[in-house]
Amino acid sequence: MLKEIISLFYPQICAGCRKPVHKSHWAICLNCRIKMPRTKFQVFDENPVLKLLEGKCDVKHAFAFYYFKTDNTVQDLMHALKYKGVIKVGEEFGQIVGQHLSRNKRYKTIDYVIPLPLHISKQRLRGFNQCDSIAQSIALKLNTKFENNLVKRITSNESQTTKTHFERHENVDKIFKIKNSEIFKNKSILLIDDVITTGSTLSSLAKEFNDIPNCRVYVGTIAMAS
Ligand SMILES: [Zn+2]
Repeated sequence: MLKEIISLFYPQICAGCRKPVHKSHWAICLNCRIKMPRTKFQVFDENPVLKLLEGKCDVKHAFAFYYFKTDNTVQDLMHALKYKGVIKVGEEFGQIVGQHLSRNKRYKTIDYVIPLPLHISKQRLRGFNQCDSIAQSIALKLNTKFENNLVKRITSNESQTTKTHFERHENVDKIFKIKNSEIFKNKSILLIDDVITTGSTLSSLAKEFNDIPNCRVYVGTIAMAS
């Protein structure tokens, strides 16, 4: 009740369109939720994300939930999450995606939801990993485990540019390290990133899990850059 009275005087503003939101606990308004272009990739046996990862790693299935175009709401919301630290946006993106996945046979059996880790230097600079809140909300909706401690990013993108061509080549697949791979044996895992562009970072993480016996890898992102 008090929250509702407060929201009359200080209405919550949507992180996408900057208009007041009807429900005080929402960071993404109803209008933006309807307006964002959905891909529905999660229901298709073939889709552009699967195509992107083909030949790079072994995944059971993969999807991006929205199309990411410059100058659209998805981009504004992503910006609010990543650069303004509006964690609520990540939570709500995760809730929307998780809701859809919980009704999808393929994704019902996931054991662990794992956010793509940032390199420690980048995480310190930003103060958080934008994928954590997304992955955590998805795990909640799927009624499964969230795990962000056992995978480390050992190379930052930046440090790649200072290496020689040979070093870069040697290094290209070793961006991540799994601390306790035993846990993921015979498990289904869902790797989460915010946006997929070339798929190379996600596929190098997927490949680490491909080395674990009978570990089934799924990949999901909020958006796909077009
Ligand atoms: Zn809005």
